[in-house]
Amino acid sequence: MSILTVGTMAFDSIETPFGKAEKVIGGACTYISWAASYWYSPIHLVSIIGRDFPQSEVKALEDRGVSMEGLVRRTDMDSFFWAGKYHPDMNNRDTLTTDLNVLAEFDPILPRSYVSSRFIMLGNLTPAIQMSVLNQLDGNQAVIILDTMNFWMDIAMPELKEVLKRVNVLTINDEEARQLSGERSLVRAAQKIHEMGPEYLVIKKGEHGALLFYKDQIFFAPGMPMADVIDPTGAGDSFAGGMIGYLARTGEISFKNMKTALIYGSTMASFCVEDFSLQKLRNLSQDEIHQRIRQFEMLSSFDVNELPVKNN
Ligand code: AMP
Repeated sequence: MSILTVGTMAFDSIETPFGKAEKVIGGACTYISWAASYWYSPIHLVSIIGRDFPQSEVKALEDRGVSMEGLVRRTDMDSFFWAGKYHPDMNNRDTLTTDLNVLAEFDPILPRSYVSSRFIMLGNLTPAIQMSVLNQLDGNQAVIILDTMNFWMDIAMPELKEVLKRVNVLTINDEEARQLSGERSLVRAAQKIHEMGPEYLVIKKGEHGALLFYKDQIFFAPGMPMADVIDPTGAGDSFAGGMIGYLARTGEISFKNMKTALIYGSTMASFCVEDFSLQKLRNLSQDEIHQRIRQFEMLSSFDVNELPVKNN
């Protein structure tokens, strides 16, 4: 059994109300792999980097049980680059630059050892690449999770809809759920998105947590109120990494287990936002992770007694 992660490995330039970080390590696949590596190995990584991406970053992931057999390095081009600026509320951001660079020419070939991976995390990427990876798998996957964003909905909606037919879990934010479904209500959006393929839909709502939709059931995982949110970049990917790591470790795909997976995802996301780039995610101890999971438990568990209504 193994996890397969596909996505960008990138440089990001980020501006938040707390400061700026120029050309720091980012990318969906990087965040997913770091977050998942706390729970499971091996992780089979599929990505592309350019001449500018530090080998030390590749090595750091390798040391955590991430296989680099599926990583392509182009020595004639630069890595994917993304620049974004967050609004004062930190929940919304504007993309300032998306330079595809190496990504424009990426046509992944899965190594033989990857083909039977059971837990698939298709990180935010061109839908055509996500599809190409699916086409190379052996068809015996336990779960296929897909993350995407408005950028791909704007420029490749038909291709995205084709991939969705083959996906079990879709993770997107609330505005993307509305854009994909054409529905304002998230409940109606979930109904429409289920019809497109994914039986599970996770709608991420930034600091306000995440909703899980499955058939006619809904679960809410809160966001941890944090004293200092420094940089939300990668929170969605860390969330996805925590989720797939937990699912692979426990090996069970059920609504009950998916709920716990959302809490593991929220936990990894809550660490991610505490610093720029991957700084916080690189050095977490078991104690601090367990403590955060308990905080989530306390944040949302309550007893309710059914008080009889007052007779007038
Ligand atoms: P998140 O904050 O979880 O949405 O992820 C942010 C990461 O996604 C950044 O590190 C970027 O490098 C990467 N990213 C931004 N735009 C794209 C895109 N269009 N396709 C793939 N990855 C992207």
